[in-house]
Amino acid sequence: MNRRQLLQNLAAFSGAALIGGPNLRAQTPAPSGPFSLPALGYAFDALEPHIDAQTMQIHHDRHHAAYVNNLNGVITKYPDMAKMPIDQIVANLDKIPNPADRNTIRNNAGGHINHTFFWQSLKKNEGGKPSGDLLKAIETKFKTYDQFQTDFTQAATTVFGSGWAWLVKNADGSLDLLKTPNQDNPWMQGKTPILALDVWEHAYYLKYQNRRPDYIKAFWNVINWDFANEQFAKKA
Ligand code: MN
Repeated sequence: MNRRQLLQNLAAFSGAALIGGPNLRAQTPAPSGPFSLPALGYAFDALEPHIDAQTMQIHHDRHHAAYVNNLNGVITKYPDMAKMPIDQIVANLDKIPNPADRNTIRNNAGGHINHTFFWQSLKKNEGGKPSGDLLKAIETKFKTYDQFQTDFTQAATTVFGSGWAWLVKNADGSLDLLKTPNQDNPWMQGKTPILALDVWEHAYYLKYQNRRPDYIKAFWNVINWDFANEQFAKKA
């Protein structure tokens, strides 16, 4: 690509980003390699007005796709690892000898598994709450569901910079809150994630700008508690 083509492509890309809207097309090429971008599983506007369609489309089609592409670009150097499930890859980063590759895989395998989990964690819930064994475990740990909401909100609000807030299950079945920087995650620590919230600015900036607390407040309206219940029921 010569300089003129590069500038034309950049201009086309930024033009598309400015126009936005429902006709916005994915700019990131479809991934090819051992890992692929999973379908979102619902419409980009399914979480409106809490999470807007344009954010969902860019977040899935560009950000998540980029993590998958970047992962595919380096994991082929490690054919044994490329065959592993993604949660095993992020739990075995210490087996990658090259520090630069280890860091690339940490960030991009982390980005892939985190977003794959996050999309499934979202569904408009109309004020729904957890139930059954998960609700009991929440009440054991936090006393009340309201207190859990307060504590999770506090954790998500105080992630410094880019990162994630999680509700996780420990090996003994108890619950904890966890904050992770960048694309780090509970699988890296041998914990089972139950609920995830992406608090990178790309997850909310188009609609909420710098108002992360408003995005976190909206999150309570789009938690897929059925999915969270299923994660809690899994063996640690
Ligand atoms: Mn994200």
